[in-house]
Amino acid sequence: MLNIVLFGAPGCGKGTQAAKLVEKYNLNHISTGAVIRSEISAQTELGKSMEAYISRGELAPDSLVIDIVTDYIDRHRDANGNIFDGFPRTVAQAKVLETIGGVDVALAIEVPDEAIVHRMAGRRTCPKCNATYHIVNNPPATEGVCDKCGESLGIRRDDAPEVVLQRLRVYHDQTEPVMHHYAAK
Ligand code: AMP
Repeated sequence: MLNIVLFGAPGCGKGTQAAKLVEKYNLNHISTGAVIRSEISAQTELGKSMEAYISRGELAPDSLVIDIVTDYIDRHRDANGNIFDGFPRTVAQAKVLETIGGVDVALAIEVPDEAIVHRMAGRRTCPKCNATYHIVNNPPATEGVCDKCGESLGIRRDDAPEVVLQRLRVYHDQTEPVMHHYAAK
């Protein structure tokens, strides 16, 4: 089993690149953010307990995120491996990954913060299939409609400018040290 982890600030293009790798190499795509958003929109107990963190741009508690990932892996053992999009984001999460096969490849997508802020201001997301667009750089064929599944596009609550700034701070403070750990290896 091949385990690939993707690092990069929110909105740097992790989801887009993960989708390409998944298709090419038959990997599971594990986006913890996408799982959390679907739990929130379904208003499950798990979703409700994470909603406040996400809307503030904070990380969800490690224990909940780790449960999501281990449960996902248990249910998807058929692919050639896993691509982790948005996990691990803390040292504690990285330690858990070591117990479920470790990391074969760590990739970092580096985008300056100013470019992130600009991109996020124009991002539109499909709430059903998670496809993302940008109103100028990558617009859908029909304004406001997902090309892939026809659902109406929305703006993620945590893409609001003040929340994006907080997510960037959290990325630099908590996730970059994890990335440096893999870089050193
Ligand atoms: P993303 O779509 O990856 O940018 O994730 C959206 C939000 O979900 C993040 O800002 C966090 O609040 C939460 N989240 C996603 N993945 C994790 C994780 N590995 N650990 C903690 N919180 C996470």
